[in-house]
Amino acid sequence: MPVAITGIHGQCAHCASICLLAPWQLNAIAINEAFPCSHCHKALQLSDPKQIRRIKSLDSLALLRASTLVMVCTALLVALVMEWVGLLSVIEQINFTLVAILIYLVVVQYARHRQHITLILEAARAHAD
Ligand SMILES: [Zn+2]
Repeated sequence: MPVAITGIHGQCAHCASICLLAPWQLNAIAINEAFPCSHCHKALQLSDPKQIRRIKSLDSLALLRASTLVMVCTALLVALVMEWVGLLSVIEQINFTLVAILIYLVVVQYARHRQHITLILEAARAHAD
């Protein structure tokens, strides 16, 4: 399962350091595998179902961003064509364009905000000391 990469941190159960999770570490979490802490190199895993659900919801967040981009581009094209055929004045078209871009920026900002996660990682059971 592919996971969106940006802004996800993990807190180590062994050394309590917080570090940015690399894509391969996120992949390990996604397939429920243990992985070493990048600071103290002891094995970690994510077993809290609530946090796992949160990680998985990032996929739909990426989809939301992509579909919003397509929607905004379509709306801009429609506004442009409507201006060409005389259904909209230039000022109305500019207003329409600004509103569409604003909506896109709000969605991107929301997605970015939701992506800022710090996972509380646990010691992997098989490798616990
Ligand atoms: Zn550690």
